Amino acid sequence: MKLKLQNTFLESISEMCKKSYATPAPAPELLIFNSPLAEELNLSSLAKDQSKCIEIFSGRETIQGSQPIAQAYAGHQFGHFNPALGDGRALLLGEFLNTNGELRDIQLKGSGPTPFSRRGDGKSALGPVLREYLISESMFVLGIPTTRALAAIKTGENVQREQELPGGIMTRVASSHIRVGSFEYAYKSKNQSLIKDLADYSINRHFPETADVENPYLAFFAAVCNEQASLVANWMSIGFIHGVMNTDNMTISGETIDYGPCAFMDIYNPSTVFSSIDKNGRYSYENQPKILTWNLTRLAETLIHLVHDDQNEAIKLLTEVLQLIKPVYTNYWLSLMRSKIGLSKEEQDDMQLISQLLSLMEINKVDFTLCFRSLSKALVGDKKSIKNLFKNDIAFDNWMALWKERLSHESISDEKIASSMDLVNPLYIPRNHKVEEALEAAVFHNNMKPFNKLHGILKNPYQEVKGLHEYEKPDENSKEKYKTYCGT
Ligand code: AMP
Ligand code: MG
Repeated sequence: MKLKLQNTFLESISEMCKKSYATPAPAPELLIFNSPLAEELNLSSLAKDQSKCIEIFSGRETIQGSQPIAQAYAGHQFGHFNPALGDGRALLLGEFLNTNGELRDIQLKGSGPTPFSRRGDGKSALGPVLREYLISESMFVLGIPTTRALAAIKTGENVQREQELPGGIMTRVASSHIRVGSFEYAYKSKNQSLIKDLADYSINRHFPETADVENPYLAFFAAVCNEQASLVANWMSIGFIHGVMNTDNMTISGETIDYGPCAFMDIYNPSTVFSSIDKNGRYSYENQPKILTWNLTRLAETLIHLVHDDQNEAIKLLTEVLQLIKPVYTNYWLSLMRSKIGLSKEEQDDMQLISQLLSLMEINKVDFTLCFRSLSKALVGDKKSIKNLFKNDIAFDNWMALWKERLSHESISDEKIASSMDLVNPLYIPRNHKVEEALEAAVFHNNMKPFNKLHGILKNPYQEVKGLHEYEKPDENSKEKYKTYCGT
C-alpha cells in the first residue's frame, strides 16, 4: 500500500507540537468510511482494505512515515485568553498529497491523552463523532469550506461523561489545522522567531501568492480575512450557527472546524443560540459576523512586528485591512443572498429587498430553509406553502409584488429563475431532531440505519425526492428549545 505520510509541520515548527501516540482502541468497529473522499485523497488502496482501515483509524497501527503529534495552540475562549490549549484529544498523524497535489492533514480525534490533555481523558464519545461526520460532510455538499470526515470508529470502550457513553474516534482531514489560536500561541512564546516561522509556513502552505508581494505578512493577513469573511457569509446564507467561534476554532485556511455545539437554525430568529454553554449569546447567529472581526483582530495583534518595524505604522496597516472585513463580508453575503432570491443582476435596492424579506421572516417566525424553497415554488404558480409560512400576511404580499417587479429586470423566465434558486437553496439540511434521532439509534441501539439514511439524503440536498417529506421540516412537536453541547 502506497500511503506515505509527511511531517512537514513537525519538521518546520517543532516548538509548536509534541510527539504523542494514540491509545489503541480495544475492540474497534468501523461504522462509516468515506470512500469517495478516500479516492480524492489518493487513498483508494486503503478504501479497499477494511481491516487496515480499522487498524489505522482506531490508533492501533501507525502509517508508514507517520510521526503522530499533538499541536500546541492558545486561544480566546468566550473572550478570555487561554495561553495553553492544544490538541488534548486529537493527534495529527501527518500530511499527504491528494490527487491535486495539495497537502492535507490527517488527524485522529478522540484517540487518547496527549501532553495537552490537562484534566481531560483525550477521548471522545461516539455521538459527537457521528455528529461531526454528518454535519461536516453535509456542509461540504452545500459548498461550504470545511474539514472533512474520512472515518468514524466505535472504539469498544465506554467513556465517562455525565453518564457512561460508548467511545468513538473520528478521522478528520483538513487543509491544515493551523488556527488563529496557533498564532496567539506563537506570539506569546519566548522564542521571537516562532511567529515568523509559523507565518512563513502558513503562507507557503495556504497563500503562496502572498510570498512575493511587497509586504507578505500584511498580504497574508488580508488573505486570511478574505477567506474567513467568505466562510461566515456562507454560514449565514444557510442558517448555520457554529456555536463556539473561539479563536482556537477558526482556521487560517478558512475551513469550518470543530463541529461541537453547531446546529442549523429552523425558525428565522437572528438571536438564535443553541449551545448550552453560550449563556450570553456571544456566538448567536447574528453575532457571527461581528465575532469574525473580533477574532481577526486577535490575529492582527500577533502580526504587528512582522508587518512593519515601526509599530504605529504596522497598526495603521493592519487596521486598514481590519476595516475592510465588514464591506468584504457584506459583499459575499449580498451575492449569496441575491442568488437565494433568484437575482443575478446587481441593483442598488437589492440589499433593502433582502432585508425586508428577512424582517418579515422574523416577524412571522418562518423556517429559514423552507422559506427560500417555497419562494421558488410560488414563482412557478404554487403559492400554498409560502402563504402558509407567512400566514397570509399582507405585508408579505406587498413584498412579493416588489420581488416580482425586481425579477422582471432579470429578463429570464420565472421557470428558469425558480430552477436556479433551487440549485442554491437546499431542501434537505441536517434537521436537529433528525440528527438526534440518528445518533440515538447509532449510540444506544447499535443501529446505523437512521444515520445512513439521513447521510444519504444529505448527499443530494437540492433535489426533492418524493416520500422524504419528514426530512424537510423542522420538528413541529418539540416544545423544548433545542440545546447543543460541546463535543466532549
Ligand atoms: P473544543 O471545545 O473542542 O474546541 O476544545 C477546547 C480544548 O479542550 C482543546 O484544547 C481540546 O483539545 C480540549 N479538550 C476537549 N475535550 C477534551 C478531552 N476529552 N480530553 C482532553 N482535552 C479535551
Ligand atoms: Mg476546538
